[in-house]
Amino acid sequence: MMALHMAIHAALVDRRRSIVAAKALYGATIHLLVKILEPSGISVRFADFNNLEEVEKAVAEEKPGCLLVETISNPLLRVVEIDKLASIAKAANAAFIVDNTFATPLVSRPLEHGANMVVHSLTKYLSGHGDVMGGAIISDAEHIETLQATARAIGPNLGPFESFLALRGIKTFPLRMERQCQNACRVASWLAAHPGVDHVYFPAIPNTPTPPLRAACSRRDFSAPL
Ligand SMILES: *Cc1c(COP(=O)(O)O)cnc(C)c1O
Repeated sequence: MMALHMAIHAALVDRRRSIVAAKALYGATIHLLVKILEPSGISVRFADFNNLEEVEKAVAEEKPGCLLVETISNPLLRVVEIDKLASIAKAANAAFIVDNTFATPLVSRPLEHGANMVVHSLTKYLSGHGDVMGGAIISDAEHIETLQATARAIGPNLGPFESFLALRGIKTFPLRMERQCQNACRVASWLAAHPGVDHVYFPAIPNTPTPPLRAACSRRDFSAPL
């Protein structure tokens, strides 16, 4: 959460103090926006980031300094079109921040699709052992100096032991992530075919589960060498 807070700070240092954020976001992120940033004078507006027209309208009206979205949202697993959102942000001279915690760099690298700053919780997939908390910001060149200066001034840096634990976790991250993706496909396919389940939220097929879901899962080759 500190990584996210720092990224938003770096985005708004020299831009309009206004954020257009996705409606589908992690609960603590909504809390950060509404309960901490808004009372400090930053205006916050939510839009459905799966509806590009709605985002364009919000951006035209708010003239935000920053757009914020999750690649795969927590918990509803909404997947957005990063490249199109990046163009909207760029045209409005807003920084584009992507929380890539759920996707991880193995599944998506938003910087390559036009994001300015990508935020990860290290606590989850990347560290993977449930024994360390941390965050990371992957930044473009434009924001890196502000981020470094902010880190020095505010002091959220990970301690040496936590850094060690996070690096240890990252060594096994690709193996764990591939297996977790395979397992998720099997669980989602099983649930989608279950008569007692009427809706499955799964990125392979957002709205209509059952047979296409199974096809989408088996088509994806998670066992390919990295
Ligand atoms: C968990 C989570 C966070 C916060 O991570 P912490 O390591 O608990 O601070 C931020 N964004 C998303 C999408 C998350 O799932």
